Amino acid sequence: MSSVLLENVKKVYRNGQEEVWALKGISLKIEKGQMVAVMGPSGSGKSTLLHIIGGIDYPTEGKVVINGLQIDSLNDKQLSKFRSENIGFVFQFHYLLPEFTALENVMIPIQIKGEKNPKEKASDILKKFNLQHRLNHKPSQMSGGEQQRVAIARAVANDPSLLIADEPTGNLDSQNAKNVIMLFKHLNESKGMTIIIATHDIEIAKYCKYIYYMRDGMLVDIEKV
Ligand code: ADP
Ligand code: ADP
Repeated sequence: MSSVLLENVKKVYRNGQEEVWALKGISLKIEKGQMVAVMGPSGSGKSTLLHIIGGIDYPTEGKVVINGLQIDSLNDKQLSKFRSENIGFVFQFHYLLPEFTALENVMIPIQIKGEKNPKEKASDILKKFNLQHRLNHKPSQMSGGEQQRVAIARAVANDPSLLIADEPTGNLDSQNAKNVIMLFKHLNESKGMTIIIATHDIEIAKYCKYIYYMRDGMLVDIEKV
């Protein structure tokens, strides 16, 4: 079963009179356990594509099927349940809660999902990510690379089958960027997690198995790495 299937997906943003066709008819299939990079110039529709695949936003037209479930026809409440059970998100800026420690930030999605022993589970994940010395630190007390690793820990805390990352290394130096992509690769290989990463950085994209190239709202090429 493919984990991501899009059929002729279009997305238009309307601001008053102005219309922007961010996606102009995307069809694609990403198999379960695949690791895929999405590249393309700024404004080509990468973020919009990721938001629609992850159920943050609805397509204007077309079909979006994730793990066999057609999510474009879900209502808001169903969609948010689907997200919390299936999807992990990582963004360029981590959006960790500043008043909470690393441990507390990672516990939140586990608690939302209603799992047992959130504290133990969160601390296990942070330890695996080499952040055992940061459990009780707040984001401002950590380096940028550490903050992003905490954000990834939070994204995978509820064992999503699909991890979506929008420019996850865009704010990091090359060493931290490499640490982050190696972490993704490990999650992909050890857990079979399907991973989709939008990036401007070809060095990061090369760690993926396929590179999808977007231009002007269209998928223009797929390259096997
Ligand atoms: P969006 O939030 O619309 O998805 P992008 O992720 O495409 O924005 O771009 C994030 C930032 O990176 C923007 O400020 C943009 O100007 C900049 N940027 C765009 N294209 C490139 C590129 N090829 N290389 C590096 N930075 C870029
Ligand atoms: P990328 O991630 O490749 O930079 P985006 O998906 O962010 O591309 O943007 C695709 C197009 O949609 C761009 O022209 C952008 O300006 C436009 N766009 C994105 N989000 C919105 C929005 N919320 N309202 C209006 N236009 C938007």
